[in-house]
Order: sequence, then structure tokens, then C-alpha cells
Amino acid sequence: MTHALFVRRLEGNTVTGLGRRAKYLLADLSSGEVLLIHLGMSGSFRVSHQGRRNEPGRFHHEKTEHLAHDHIVFEMSSGATVTFNDPRRFGFMKLVSRTKLEQEPSLRNLGPEPLGNEFDAKLLAQACHGKKTSLKAALSDQRVVAGLGNIYVCEALHRALLSPKRKASTIVAARTGLPNERAERLVDAIRAVLNDAIKAGGSSLRDHRQTDGELGYFQHHFRVYDREGEPCVTPGCSGTVRRIVQGGRSTFFCPVCQK
Ligand SMILES: [Zn+2]
Repeated sequence: MTHALFVRRLEGNTVTGLGRRAKYLLADLSSGEVLLIHLGMSGSFRVSHQGRRNEPGRFHHEKTEHLAHDHIVFEMSSGATVTFNDPRRFGFMKLVSRTKLEQEPSLRNLGPEPLGNEFDAKLLAQACHGKKTSLKAALSDQRVVAGLGNIYVCEALHRALLSPKRKASTIVAARTGLPNERAERLVDAIRAVLNDAIKAGGSSLRDHRQTDGELGYFQHHFRVYDREGEPCVTPGCSGTVRRIVQGGRSTFFCPVCQK
């Protein structure tokens, strides 16, 4: 889509709703289209109102304004501007008809939302039944559970005391296909780590920000992620956090207590 066409399809529209599916943000427009947004690695929105922006809050940080990375500015009828900033440019936006949203390649085949009501040990066991891949690979597969990023997969496996190298099928009773105790532990750990991250305001990777310009704080709560060589925090464990590469991504885990 050309820039001009993108602008023409947005201009004059009312945002009638905001939602999220997996790692996609969805803005419903009065035209019947949906603005599909992915923040990529470093995308963020900055909201300012009549010249006032990023009012210093309790955790305000001195920061550089990467104006060169402001890619899209939405001018709202209220006078507010919503600016999309993305230094690493992995983010994207796309306009899709609401009626065709389910067929959208990036949204099709997505598994359940990890914090939604339908996600439970039974569903996770079903998805892992007969899977010969590792637990890490299964949890990173968006068809198994939607929107779980690399950081949260590592953190959840550590909390559940399960090795990322363990076969995914070992959380299922082979004969019945029903979840075993490991699956229950894992689901609880996934929900716990996401809820803690939301409470802390997300995880900041360098330039990632909340809409008011503050950094997320969850990175200070990581138990294994980015802690290679540091002592394991599991009570009573004398292990050291290790890093391995699985599926091209770093996995951080404790080889002593994660079994
Ligand atoms: Zn440990």
C-alpha cells in the first residue's frame, strides 16, 4: 500500500474500539476496516495533548527523543497526537477489512490467549500430545499458545521447574492424552509470569517504552532471562543460569532445578 493510500483510508475515520490478539494491536475504524499494528522489537506509541507530552511521572527517566524514528503521526480530532516511533523498524501497520480479519495470515492459526478463559492444562496437553519437539519450541509456537514471547517462555519454564529441553509430549499422559501434573504447573507458571509482567509495566528492551515515555520494569524481575552465569534464584538451588540456543533463539535456564 502506498503512503498516500494508507493516509486516505485512515483520514476522517473514528476509532470505534481498541483490542489485542496475540502480539497484534487492533484499532477498529468506522470505515469497517481494522488497523492492525505490530510493535516489532522496539516500536512504541507516544501520546501528547496540546503540546504537553511525557509529563514526568514518579519513574521519569531522562531520555533522548528519537524524532528521526517517528514514522507515523495520527492527528486526533481531540487535538491529541499519537506518534508511532520505531528505531529498529521491525514494527508494521496494515489495514484489513473487519470481515476478513479471521483470514488474515498473521492471525489465522493462532492458538488460545494465555490469559484467556479457554487456555488450560487440558488444551495445552492436547497441543503437545505426540509432539517430539522440545517444550521450549512448543511454547514458542504461536499455534500452541498465542503471543508468548521468548522472555516469557524462559521465565515460565523456570518457574515451573521444567527443562526447556524436555520433550513437549512429556506433559501429557501418553495413553489418555490428558495433562499430567507438569502441564498444570506450566499453565500456572505462564499465567503468573504474564500477570507479574503486566503489573510491572512490561519488559523494556532498550528503547521500548510505555505510552507516557516510561520504561517497563519487568526486566528487573527476570529470574533467568539475560542472567547467564548468575546464581539460580530458586530457593535451595545452587545452580548457575546457563544460556543455550534453541531454534535460533537464546534460552536461559537452570540445569540443576529445571528437570
Ligand atoms: Zn536452579
